[in-house]
Amino acid sequence: MRSPLDTIVSLCKRRGFIFPSSEIYGGLGATYDYGPLGVELKRNVSEAWWRAMVYEHENIAGIDAAILMHPKVWKASGHVDAFHDPLIDDKASGRRYKADQLIENHIEKLRKRGRQERADHVHAQLIAALHADDMPQALHAIILDEQIRAPDSGACDWTEVRQFNMMFETHAGAVSSSDTRIYLRPETAQGIFVNAFNVRDTARLKMPFGIAQIGKAFRNEIVARQFIFRMREFEQMEMQFFVEPGTQMTWFETWKQKRWQWHRALGVPPSKLRWHVHEKPAHYADAAVDIQYHFPIGWQEIEGIHSRTDYDLSRHQQLAGKKMQVFDSKSRQRYVPYVVETSAGLDRTILMLLCEAYREEKASGSPRTVMGFAPAIAPWKAAVFPLIRRGDMPQVARAVAQSMRRAHHVFYDERGSIGRRYRRMDEAGTPLCFTVDRQTLEDDTITVRDRDTSTQKRIHKDQAARYVHDLIAAAPE
Ligand code: ATP
Repeated sequence: MRSPLDTIVSLCKRRGFIFPSSEIYGGLGATYDYGPLGVELKRNVSEAWWRAMVYEHENIAGIDAAILMHPKVWKASGHVDAFHDPLIDDKASGRRYKADQLIENHIEKLRKRGRQERADHVHAQLIAALHADDMPQALHAIILDEQIRAPDSGACDWTEVRQFNMMFETHAGAVSSSDTRIYLRPETAQGIFVNAFNVRDTARLKMPFGIAQIGKAFRNEIVARQFIFRMREFEQMEMQFFVEPGTQMTWFETWKQKRWQWHRALGVPPSKLRWHVHEKPAHYADAAVDIQYHFPIGWQEIEGIHSRTDYDLSRHQQLAGKKMQVFDSKSRQRYVPYVVETSAGLDRTILMLLCEAYREEKASGSPRTVMGFAPAIAPWKAAVFPLIRRGDMPQVARAVAQSMRRAHHVFYDERGSIGRRYRRMDEAGTPLCFTVDRQTLEDDTITVRDRDTSTQKRIHKDQAARYVHDLIAAAPE
């Protein structure tokens, strides 16, 4: 039987949301291309994020920094020395897993079986292991003690746990030597840190203020088998909020709430979202939580909210030898700002919305698949059809489609039975379909069919654009 995720993967390919990268060569692991519908969905979601973060806050400005940065940036940020994943191989299948995640899944299983005490004990061991000097060895010991089996093969035949740096390296210029080595950025945040004062001064921002950015990040993920959930090239939507030291926990709470609300506004119900507190925040953070979504593959992170202290700015100050400080006119002191970060994966948000939108149901007795996207993020807002391809109907239908094009992304289709055309639009998640029929030629009315209810009514053809506009305005994001 196909898993729910497989069903979504196949719909994505069939309808042009997402294709495997370089598919004609057999694909490239953990990289994907967005097709005509996927790119629209992605643009709409990133626009919703940008609006919520930049336009709706007078103290947040946006940037678009380069992917390639000075190699010292990654020394300063800690990525050269500490951007590692503890990995373990199943000798039976040759598959590789994140050691800490195997243990977390094991704890969750124990809890589901009602073995709370045991789960608490392993949980405590995991926390100790994550803080141990020899973390790989400590994780390895738990896996052996608990006889954790490999999810795929069921075997308990493990290698040692090894640390693996996840940054992609390349070389600048013509020569490839260690002097020319640079990295593809593993997070967008550092482009914000190094520009913090450029942005503050040019955008005339005062403390506290934020900088937002959407862009590609690259990680050489080893465990990468979950469609666009874990990719080697992906997009992040990050905002760094610069605050006075001592106020970071208040801002941390504020941003937690705002980010939770944003996901809710996309139509995700609270029952499918939860908080996950980090057992061991990253080396730069004094508090960290994730927002998790209940994917078909289980509860997984979609966004992290981190209180990053003054770690990054202080490190850049140290390595670049440039002051990264602000002047407080009240205390007449200089200080390095603290940072609260919100870091969401655009692709993971897309996967969440695809999973959330997908439904199979019966409409007038026949089965249909519907992608119930909120109208504001739907790839096509409306489709326009002539009932039949002959006579004046196509010309009138094209004119109706054209009347909407400046405001909305609209699809025109005249081929195949009208029922099939509706079904295709249901799978694309198009909220409205307008049809020109015989009556249109007599009284200028067209039918409008609602994706979710399949009900139809007649409106004047000049009202089509307004109708779409009102639907988008009335619905949540
Ligand atoms: P994970 O634990 O799942 O690897 P992370 O904690 O390393 O994620 P962060 O460094 O906090 O992730 O990155 C912020 C966001 O970027 C994540 O919440 C996620 O949505 C997204 N992200 C991180 N790695 C990937 C990836 N390989 N593919 C797609 N999105 C990713």
